[in-house]
Amino acid sequence: MRPVLSGSLGLGGGVFLLCLFGIFTRPGLDVATLWPANAFMLGMLVRFPSLATWQSWVAAAAGFILADAATGAGLVPNLVLNGCNLGAVAAGYLVFSRLDVRDRRLRRPNSVLFLLMGVGVMALVSGLGGSIADPMLFGGTPAGGLTFWFVTEAVNATAFLPLLLTLPRIDGVAFRRWRANLGLPTLSRALPLFALAVSAVAAMAIGGPGAIAVPVPALLWCALTFGIFSTACLAFAYGAWALLSIRFGVLPLVADLEDRSVLLSARAGVTLISLSPLFVASVMAGRNELVQRLRLLAERDQMTGLLNRQTFFDRSNEDLRLLARGSDPAAVMMVDIDHFKSINDRYGHAAGDQVIVAFASVLTRSVRPMDRVARIGGEEFAVFLPRCAADQAASFAAGIQRVLTGTNVTLQDGVVIRATVSIGIHAGSGHDDLHHLLRHADKALYRAKTGGRDRYEISVAARAATAA
Ligand code: GH3
Ligand code: MG
Ligand code: MG
Repeated sequence: MRPVLSGSLGLGGGVFLLCLFGIFTRPGLDVATLWPANAFMLGMLVRFPSLATWQSWVAAAAGFILADAATGAGLVPNLVLNGCNLGAVAAGYLVFSRLDVRDRRLRRPNSVLFLLMGVGVMALVSGLGGSIADPMLFGGTPAGGLTFWFVTEAVNATAFLPLLLTLPRIDGVAFRRWRANLGLPTLSRALPLFALAVSAVAAMAIGGPGAIAVPVPALLWCALTFGIFSTACLAFAYGAWALLSIRFGVLPLVADLEDRSVLLSARAGVTLISLSPLFVASVMAGRNELVQRLRLLAERDQMTGLLNRQTFFDRSNEDLRLLARGSDPAAVMMVDIDHFKSINDRYGHAAGDQVIVAFASVLTRSVRPMDRVARIGGEEFAVFLPRCAADQAASFAAGIQRVLTGTNVTLQDGVVIRATVSIGIHAGSGHDDLHHLLRHADKALYRAKTGGRDRYEISVAARAATAA
């Protein structure tokens, strides 16, 4: 089956099952209080835009109507109620589909405000539907229908939408990172969860109207610790715990639960409280993305994407300290493009840049995964090769020389540039620091240059050590 079609059928099936769930939880012939189907449909359409096709709308509409038909609803209530459901989803979709993708996934500081706006519009359409449907089907008043349908839709959407909007893709990096982190039982991750559990118990012991807010500090701590999806799950768990505890009297409120307005007030309070960790987590998501970008700017050479000089030195020195402990050998290589000035002079600076970028990329692909490549000067690269002795480094250098010399760089106007490189190598064990290694490699590079270029040279010190 075509993936789009199977996606639509999956959506319709999901809507059908969630409607049955909602109908099952509603007391008598009344508006369901737990109705995740609308939020599910909207969340799926927003999270997976390829699902937003007319086939999906047809499949979802069929899901809504069949679920009511299967549970014995008459034709008129069926069409009226599901018209309201689809209208609310359509209104929410109009808002969410216009948002920046980072806001749709709650990854910017203001994203939760946009979420509230989308939910508000969705709930308003639902409320308007309720102002007509409630008197028509359940003998209520227009004002009562408006309020109850508005709050019910808002509560359900606020509870379920964040879970779907932040859902990581099963095949994506975010999901793998999320799963990898999930298994890490570090104390710093366990403590906020423990605090959340303790505050849930404390809330039940304290009771009264303020009890639902007792877990707030622990929820915020969780939001600072975990990613946006985990936080959305915890916020949902809090909401479910609070509403069920109120419903079954474990979390005693001082007011009369039979009063519909008390129930609505408790629901609205719990739902809005569960938004607070999402606010924090979305600010954190935005901040982490920024830190990532800044780190990239601080550690990498912007033109080639290779490590810059400082980061190369810092990381390689760390590795050298570890290697020296086991007296493992390490090698460094300095690679310099020959007669680069004349390339600039002949083809222009931009063409020279293109050669540097192409050579950087070929060099990165030519080394082992454990090696580290950096751009340490204009057309000068350095390679750090852990656990590599002089003779092995020499054969790597020969290979790199061959590949770089054979690299054709084609300019926009079709002109092909080729260049040769000279390489200086030094290797040894029990080394003190990278400056020391590079000084030897630099001398070897100088000899390669003066010896006619397009060649590699091993440092005198490394050759002497190998011979000894
Ligand atoms: P050789 O190494 O073979 O001795 O000769 P060379 O011409 O490559 O030597 P040198 O190191 O003196 O010149 C390097 C030139 O690279 C000088 C500078 O104008 C140019 N250069 C430095 N950084 C960049 C850059 O980012 N882009 C371009 N296009 N040129 C650069
Ligand atoms: Mg050069
Ligand atoms: Mg140079």
